[in-house]
Amino acid sequence: MKVQNYINGNYQNPISNQWLNNYCPANGEIYGQTPNSSKEDVEAAFQVAKTAFQKWSKTTLEERSKILIKIAELIEINLDKLAEAESEDNGKPLSLAKSVDIPRAASNFRFFGHAITQFSSESHESSGQNAINYTLRQPIGVVGCISPWNLPLYLFTWKIAPAIAAGNCVVAKPSEVTPITAYLLGDICTKAGLPKGVLNIIHGKGSTTGQAIVEHPDIKAISFTGGSKTGAQIAKIAAPLFKKLSLELGGKNPNIIFADCDYHAMLETTLRSSFSNQGQICLSGSRIFIEEALYNRFKTDFVKKTKALKVGHPRETNTVIGALVSKPHLEKVLSNIEIGKKEGTVLCGGNKITVKNYENGYYLEPTIIEISTNDCKINQEEIFGPVVTLMPFKNENEALELANNVTYGLSATLWTNNLKRTMRITHQLKAGMVWVNTWMHRDLRTPFGGVKASGIGREGGFEALRFFTESKNVCIKY
Ligand code: NAD
Repeated sequence: MKVQNYINGNYQNPISNQWLNNYCPANGEIYGQTPNSSKEDVEAAFQVAKTAFQKWSKTTLEERSKILIKIAELIEINLDKLAEAESEDNGKPLSLAKSVDIPRAASNFRFFGHAITQFSSESHESSGQNAINYTLRQPIGVVGCISPWNLPLYLFTWKIAPAIAAGNCVVAKPSEVTPITAYLLGDICTKAGLPKGVLNIIHGKGSTTGQAIVEHPDIKAISFTGGSKTGAQIAKIAAPLFKKLSLELGGKNPNIIFADCDYHAMLETTLRSSFSNQGQICLSGSRIFIEEALYNRFKTDFVKKTKALKVGHPRETNTVIGALVSKPHLEKVLSNIEIGKKEGTVLCGGNKITVKNYENGYYLEPTIIEISTNDCKINQEEIFGPVVTLMPFKNENEALELANNVTYGLSATLWTNNLKRTMRITHQLKAGMVWVNTWMHRDLRTPFGGVKASGIGREGGFEALRFFTESKNVCIKY
């Protein structure tokens, strides 16, 4: 499949005719090409977006809402095609793409299609001074949206939907590792009646295409999801240009388990929070801390259940763990496991798997490493694969210290039935999102984002609509 840029409602080749190979993680074969777009392509997209903004920013909320909801419906109609494309491009189980990624991409458009009709701003009467202030929230103009490969269409649409709902026009770049569903989205937007130039999808590497979007002086806001190092680089470029920035970055999330929790619910959910999507979810609970009294029971059961997880071709219905996204990523995860072997004890997994008929695919056993200190590389640096660590703790204070002692602060999960402890711990955890007795339970109205090296700003609900608008206070004396 040859991916093309989507500019002004048309598919086109990159101006410089530079291309990247697209690999299928399930068999390691090249199955298509993707543009490696240049500054010139970004400029072409910016120019049409700027023109489209004149009209799009003045459309009624109902009109925008109708188009966004239509895009959601068309994503649902094309669910099978999009899920197959996502699974082939990313290596994730087809069942996961069908049940999570693609339905969620549709929900993103439907949610923001409705949310924009409910978005309001403040008014402040200066009592006794005969003046009233009201806040105008206006679209910014042309904005940039840059997304990663782990949940390709899901995270791409999570940015684009609020940006266009708020009246902006967009230059968007999906990950060059997984470009296919973003490519297919262009056609869906055209069919849904999205005016030309409102959304422009440019493909290419971060260092070429991505950086050109960030460096563009007139793209005034960047919503970025990806690694913390990339986020820091983007912040450095954007700061002197005074761009609005939303940075959703890496995580090294603690999963704190107390002996008084609902054991079976915790065990099943912990399997998911460890290995769903091959552990390639920013919210995965990769550092598991267990209260001493429960440690041995949990360790035995968790290892047994992990060994039973079926690693296989993403299309096979009994596959729970598919292929990792790319060869370099597989190698990165394997090199972390090697470090883990020195820092701790591998309780299960740790090896590359050869799947019959797909010998060159990027398959890896789900891996559990037992450690005795949190101050080790595998517990401090993001691995972003099917690798978790286990470590016991003695009491609440120690659990908190272990959970917070890391440079990241995206999410945390807590398992306990003690309400007072829940309140104490949730108040003290340094994370943008905390789940208690559940994991990745999402409500799209809630603020989404992290603290520390996990980023700045919040997405989700009205937070996203606030990010994609500029507020202007108007004070009227009467
Ligand atoms: P990445 O930072 O390598 O790339 C993310 C995107 O940024 C890609 O589209 C890439 O092409 C682009 N990019 C790279 N360098 C760039 C530059 N200099 N300028 C502009 N754009 C550039 O991340 P990745 O490997 O694709 O994704 C994995 C990372 O994403 C993990 O760290 C994971 O935790 C994080 N992530 C975070 C969240 C969240 O919501 N916090 C969600 C998913 C993934």
